[in-house]
Amino acid sequence: MKIQDIQAIKLLLASPKKIAIIPHRGPDGDAMGSTLALYHFLLKNNHQPTVIAPNDFPDFLAWLPGSETVRIFEKDTENCTTILQEAELIFTLDFNALHRVGDMEHTLAKLTAPFIMIDHHQKPDDYAAYTYSDTSFGSTCEMIYNFILFLDKKEDLDKTIATCIYTGILTDSGSFRFPKTTGNTHRIVAELIDLGAENTEIPVLLFDNSSYSRLQLLGRALQNMKVFKEHKTSYTSLTQNELDSFDYVKGDTEGIVNYGLSIKGIIFTAIFIENKDEKIIKISFRSQGGFDVNQFARDHFNGGGHINAAGGKSEVSMEETLKKFEDLVTKLKI
Ligand code: 5GP
Ligand code: MN
Repeated sequence: MKIQDIQAIKLLLASPKKIAIIPHRGPDGDAMGSTLALYHFLLKNNHQPTVIAPNDFPDFLAWLPGSETVRIFEKDTENCTTILQEAELIFTLDFNALHRVGDMEHTLAKLTAPFIMIDHHQKPDDYAAYTYSDTSFGSTCEMIYNFILFLDKKEDLDKTIATCIYTGILTDSGSFRFPKTTGNTHRIVAELIDLGAENTEIPVLLFDNSSYSRLQLLGRALQNMKVFKEHKTSYTSLTQNELDSFDYVKGDTEGIVNYGLSIKGIIFTAIFIENKDEKIIKISFRSQGGFDVNQFARDHFNGGGHINAAGGKSEVSMEETLKKFEDLVTKLKI
């Protein structure tokens, strides 16, 4: 982060302020971990922070300290709008473009308070007065840790903040496996554990918290999987009917996409999930190595993300979407 920006932010934070902190729509472990870590840090520094999520977060994140204070814009639009209009400073975390908050974009676009973006996605938009954007980081949470150090506030790190940061690093790194996991990531993680982050408890809360029906849904997704061996690609799909028949709740499909890469020789995979309410097929892409799914998602499915993990959407039927994907895959040279 630029020295001048750090100085300017220090000045902004020198007096108590009303501050809104915003994760992307469909908040994941990194989005919730980073916003709540920052929330606890700002609270400790006598500010009045509020985390406002565009829509609800999954149940497997509901144990995060402070999650009970998170406002949901979609459910509580009027109050959230007031809080946003009264905010003197706005942090947007773990996303690079305002449209990633969905309908809330229109409200954010009208605000006059300065924005601070902290994010690790490619091609950040320029809506923020201060932008800390760096794609070399595996998670926004790791950047929040640095951000607190930039502000010379290391002594403020405590068990609560460490727990939130640990969660985002863990989830966005695929449990410390993805390529952006560095020695420095592990040094930070070691410190978080020393601060009290429960490193054996947190993964249980996040990953060993499934319902029986969620496991059955996973089974269905695995059965639906198709493999294009010669193109090193696999994909699976879940229709709204399938989701309904396994009593789907938000969060149940989290992580399923990764199974597609666990097949020997497969380096590109996708999951297509129908959302009847939003009239879209939501897509997640994953890859191993040099195949750039961010570019693939941008080029073909109105999305984006990172080189090895991206998302997108389709507004045509599941059948047409899968046909389009298969046609693209059979032309791929990977
Ligand atoms: P996931 O597949 O886990 O939802 O998302 C993987 C990565 O791609 C995340 O970094 C997420 O922020 C990004 N991503 C997911 N969906 C979209 C999308 O529709 N548009 C863009 N630009 N990025 C997305
Ligand atoms: Mn992230």
